[in-house]
This record gives sequence, structure tokens and C-alpha cells, in this order.
Amino acid sequence: MSEKFDVVVIGGGPGGYVCAIRLAQLGLKTACIESRGSLGGTCLNVGCIPSKNLLNISENYHKAKNFSKLGIEVGEVKLNLEKMMKNKDKAVTILTKGVEFLFKKNKVSYIRGTGSFKSANTISILDDQNKETYLETEKTVISTGSLPISLPGVDFDEKIILSSTGALALQKVPKKMIVVGGGYIGLEMGSVWSRLGTEVHVIEFLENITPGMDREISIEFMKILKKQGINFHMQTKVERITKNANGAGVLTSDKDGNKVNFDCDVVLISVGRKPNTDNLNLDTIGVELDEKKRIKTDKSFQTNVSNVYAIGDAIEGPMLAHKAEDEGIAVAENIAGQSGHVNYDIIPSVVYTTPEVASIGKTEEQLKKENIKYKIGKFSFMANSRAKAIDEAEGFVKILADEKTDRVLGAHIIGPHAGELIGEIGIAMEFGASAEDIARTCHAHPTFSEAVKEAALSVDKRAIHS
Ligand SMILES: Cc1cc2nc3c(=O)[nH]c(=O)nc-3n(C[C@H](O)[C@H](O)[C@H](O)COP(=O)(O)OP(=O)(O)OC[C@H]3O[C@@H](n4cnc5c(N)ncnc54)[C@H](O)[C@@H]3O)c2cc1C
Repeated sequence: MSEKFDVVVIGGGPGGYVCAIRLAQLGLKTACIESRGSLGGTCLNVGCIPSKNLLNISENYHKAKNFSKLGIEVGEVKLNLEKMMKNKDKAVTILTKGVEFLFKKNKVSYIRGTGSFKSANTISILDDQNKETYLETEKTVISTGSLPISLPGVDFDEKIILSSTGALALQKVPKKMIVVGGGYIGLEMGSVWSRLGTEVHVIEFLENITPGMDREISIEFMKILKKQGINFHMQTKVERITKNANGAGVLTSDKDGNKVNFDCDVVLISVGRKPNTDNLNLDTIGVELDEKKRIKTDKSFQTNVSNVYAIGDAIEGPMLAHKAEDEGIAVAENIAGQSGHVNYDIIPSVVYTTPEVASIGKTEEQLKKENIKYKIGKFSFMANSRAKAIDEAEGFVKILADEKTDRVLGAHIIGPHAGELIGEIGIAMEFGASAEDIARTCHAHPTFSEAVKEAALSVDKRAIHS
């Protein structure tokens, strides 16, 4: 007889594994099925974690090469790519094994294999030997994440035509890389390889990089990346990618119809990701998808089939690990009879380049579109003593506050540790704080966070250091 669970979670990424742990904490008998052979999903295996590892090491390499300017003589700085990749793999293994440990600690059953619906209460599991077993379950949470999208007619071979997964595992430093798409994944991976010596060209169809980001920040971001040596070809469309003896040729056309061919060793296609919902046999139980093949859910993450729920990249919303995690916790609490919810207005997003770029809440463009009157407070890291002291003074903090009530509506930061700084604004916004509340909160000196305080002061035109 097949084992019976209160809840089965399909997919062990940040949405699924966090959900499974929370369900177990709440006293529900829980299993989590994962097909990849290790827990942690895209994020830990081929996403957030390996990319941040490579960003950190490549940044250190870049800094080490410039040590002599700071009075540190270390001799010749050489790159050992094999060792660098091993270091990245080690970070991934430690973290994915850490999730296994958390499953054991919380008594979540970890089931290896591909899960799909036999019926609304029976889940089939196909293991890597093609052996099929079944689990009985009261409820199921689908958290099967997303997959990289390619261009029509172009297949990833992960050697020359790369998705982010291939770009995280190159065996040698390419001479020239074309990055198709100026979103955060392309820019992070482009930065890694550019720092290691690759000539990087970003081809972007739109006028600005990182679509959806506050325009002023996005323009500053591109300026800084250009200074770092990354080449941008905006309002340019990729027409064709053809593999050749030396790598690939990428034929593009700009907004005036001029055609340019880029020869390169590798092409990274980072034009977005699609929900991974094909392998679940959803038709059998009639779970509805939207036009983008995302699973349709209501506010409590329930699908049209009452005992089936869905979260993370497989449903609507920003494809971010922390969004998936928060949904995992919320759905677990809902299933346990509590009232879990996610505040979609206050989800931070961070690009982990140097400098980092972080956003939360509304952009200026959104406020204009929604006819909301706002005030702007801005403060440059050029006037922040900590940033100047360590010579990392590029960028600024921008806070948008309601014109009448002074309530913080959004914040956008480009600068050192922006990804950490945005956290304080998130808490302030959750508590309905005004810019004045932030401005009157004592911030330690000398810290980058003083730039946040000064930006908040500047909303009322009373910044001290500018
Ligand atoms: C290069 C890169 C960098 C990124 N960096 C960041 C970042 O810095 N910050 C951030 O917030 N986000 C980042 N992301 C996005 C982040 O990884 C995803 O938003 C997040 O992993 C989504 O979590 P999830 O649990 O919904 O899905 P996933 O992490 O995709 O996990 C889904 C899991 O389900 C498994 N699965 C699928 N189908 C089945 C099945 N039928 N049976 C069993 N298992 C199945 C898959 O193998 C996978 O492990 C990055 C992504 C990439 C690609």
C-alpha cells in the first residue's frame, strides 16, 4: 500500500522546501518530491547561489588585480578557473545538503523522483530508474518552478549557446560573449565573465536595461556598467544565431533596420524564464493554467481544484526566490487553518552586480501612471563618508514618498550593499512609515545606511551632507 500524507509538495526549490518545513512545523505529515537529485531548486543549484559565488570571486579577482593602486604588492594575480568553479560547487553542495538536514530535523519525507498527478489525491513518482511508485495525499502544493526560455528555433547546448546554467559552468574564459537580454541575470553573468577578461556585448530589444526598474536608476546602472567595459547595443533585435567553427554568429538589426553580425565564442540567452508546469499531468485533474502556462490560483494559493495549491515561479508574480519562500510559508499556514498572506507591494528586488542595485515599492514611472503625487528624496554615495572612505562612492539612494502624507511609497538604490540597505526600507514600508520616520531614526556612523537616512531627509529638502 502507498504511504499517506497530509500534504505532498512537488518541487524542492525555495518555494517548495520552505513550504514543506513550515507544514511539518505546523504538525502536518509532509513529503517533498524533487526530481533534480538535490534540494534547493533553481536557486541553490543553478541560480541565486552559484551566481552570487561567481560574482564574489570574480569581483575579488578584479580587485586583487588593482591592489597595487592601494599600496598592496602581491605579485602576479592569476586566475585558476577550475578551482574557482570547484569553490562554487562546494558552496552549492553545502547549502543543498543543509536543506536535506533541515528536512530530517523537521521530519519532512524527502522523495527523489518526478512527481505528477494520477488523481487529485494520488501522486505518481517516477525515479531515475523509471520505477513508478505512488503516494496518497489529502492536499498537494505545486512548486515546480521555472525553466529558461530560448529564442524561437534556437536550442541551448550549454557549450556555445548558453542558458544561465551553462554560463555558470564554463570550462574556460571565453574571448567574446554575446548576452541576449539586458535583464538582471544577463547583467550579473555578463559582469562575472567581463571581470574575468571576456569582451561582453549585451543586445537588448528595449531602450533601457532591467525593464520595470525605476528609469533613473536603470540609466545610471547602464552608465556604470559601460564604464566597467560592458558593451550595450540597445533597441537591437537578434534575428538569427548560427553556430560556426569558432563559436557562433549573432545577426542583429537595430531600430533603423541596420544589420550587424557579432562573431563570438559563446552566446548567453537570458530573455526570461517560463513556468515549469508541463510535466505534472495537470490535465488529468483539470488544474487551470493562464495564457503563460502559469498555474492559476486565488489569494490563498488554491487552484480551481480545491485540494491542490501552487506557489513560486510556477504562478504569477516576480520570479524571485524570496517571493517563492514567502508564498511557501503563507500557503502552509493557510492549509493549517491560519491566515498566511504575502504583501506583493513590498517585495524587494536586487541585482548583485558592483555596485548592487535594489528596489522596493513603486517606481517613479508607476506613480506617474497611477496619478499619485509624490516627493523625491535623493542622496549620492559621493557624499557618504563610508563609501568615500573605501572608494566605492558610485550611485545614490532615491526615496519616493507620498506628497501629502509623507508615507514611503518606494525606494531605489544603486550603490554599495544596496541589497542589504533595501531591507530597512522594506520594514519601514511594512509599518507604514513616513520618510520623516526614517530620517529621525539614528543610523550608525560611518555606514552606507546613512545615505538612506540622508535621502529620507532630502524628501523634505533638509539633507545635511549635500
Ligand atoms: C542564474 C539565476 C540567478 C538567480 N538569482 C536570483 C537572486 O539572486 N535572487 C532571487 O530572489 N532569485 C534569483 N533567481 C530566481 C530564483 O532562482 C527563482 O525565483 C526561485 O528558485 C524560484 O523558486 P521555486 O521554488 O518557485 O522554483 P525552483 O527553484 O525552480 O524549484 C523548483 C524545483 O522543482 C523541481 N521539479 C520540477 N518539476 C518537478 C516534478 N514534476 N517533480 C519533482 N520535482 C520537480 C525542479 O527540479 C526544481 O528543483 C535566479 C535565477 C537564476 C536562473
